[in-house]
Amino acid sequence: MARPVSALSTREKSLTESLIRLSEINSGSLNSVGVNRVGALLSQWFCQSLNCQHQSIDLPPYTLFNTDGSRNMQPLGKLHLLRQRPEAPLQVLLTGHLDTVFPADSGFQRCQWLDKELLRGPGVCDMKGGLLVMLEALSAFEQSPLAQQIGWTVLLNPDEEIGSPGSASILANEAEKHDLGLIYEPALPNGQLAGERKGSGNFTAIIAGVAAHAGREHHLGRNAICAMAEYITALDQLNGQRDGVTINVGVVDGGVTTNQVPDQARCRFNIRTRIRADEQWCQQQLQIIGQRLNNKEGITLNLHGGFGRSPKLLDPAHLALFQLVTECSEELGVPLSWEPTGGCCDGNNLSAAGLPNVDTLGVLGGNIHSNREFIRLPSLVERARLSTLILLRLAEQPETWRRERMQ
Ligand SMILES: [Zn+2]
Repeated sequence: MARPVSALSTREKSLTESLIRLSEINSGSLNSVGVNRVGALLSQWFCQSLNCQHQSIDLPPYTLFNTDGSRNMQPLGKLHLLRQRPEAPLQVLLTGHLDTVFPADSGFQRCQWLDKELLRGPGVCDMKGGLLVMLEALSAFEQSPLAQQIGWTVLLNPDEEIGSPGSASILANEAEKHDLGLIYEPALPNGQLAGERKGSGNFTAIIAGVAAHAGREHHLGRNAICAMAEYITALDQLNGQRDGVTINVGVVDGGVTTNQVPDQARCRFNIRTRIRADEQWCQQQLQIIGQRLNNKEGITLNLHGGFGRSPKLLDPAHLALFQLVTECSEELGVPLSWEPTGGCCDGNNLSAAGLPNVDTLGVLGGNIHSNREFIRLPSLVERARLSTLILLRLAEQPETWRRERMQ
């Protein structure tokens, strides 16, 4: 085994300590202060270990909609870019997110040992463990003379768990400057790589009706909640109508009290798509359903949002990269393959911008997005070895992997 790869075997204890430190800083997507603390600490570790250029970038705020349709602007944390050798023959983009799904007031803030290999904690698997794998692999790779063949950019974004609304344009821009992408989302629960991924869109529907006294003038009211109920039923009936498309209504609210006909209601929903053409079909259906509501006297529906992530499909350039990763995994004695998933991530964004990428190079564990999230700690070193080997193999033949050759 190549020296930089075998030298990693003693690193689990130190990586675990760093992981507990990162995990116990809350970095829910809308806790920009916490996200910035994680970003600052990690950037400092990258700069110390790798002596790279560092740039932090402010992002525009994230817009949510209140039930009355007004805008609620939420600040996002900073995005960090760390660069090495931008003039090298092959340019690799490594990405990871700093945020988690656990808000500042979540009850899940601390790590807990489940046994000597399993650690439970917020973001340990998705994906603070993966961020450390990235740092560890680059540190090992930089020990090799082959490192001169590869320039790399590490992109740490603060908003992946809410669909990367603020970082999408920077992801697309960086994708264009690189030859391939490595993303450190956790492995699928069975340890395998994600291949094709569904696309995703997030929407907010706001319905305005007419308020009235529930007893004296009920007939003058136009009930926004009842109109929303019709809308939601129509949305749900789209499920099963088109192969691979699902609609999930996730949040509903409206009204103030029982003796008033409510004049406000809001729902938020998510749509998953299998192929690009599904987006147009969904937009048509939303148009038809929305029109039906808007034809009702006294009822106004406004729809916000759209498809932030297109489906990730595996073209020949992606397949070549997946093949390389599986060969490296076989060499290390932990053979991997890939399978499709309904989940989506920044790998969708990079693919949409034409950058072939493998997006589940992070750690093994499970129960992500729940307070039972855990990591299998030996995977910190196993996955750092895998990425180090991938980088070494890429560096052996930089010309083969240049983007113009792959297409
Ligand atoms: Zn993630």
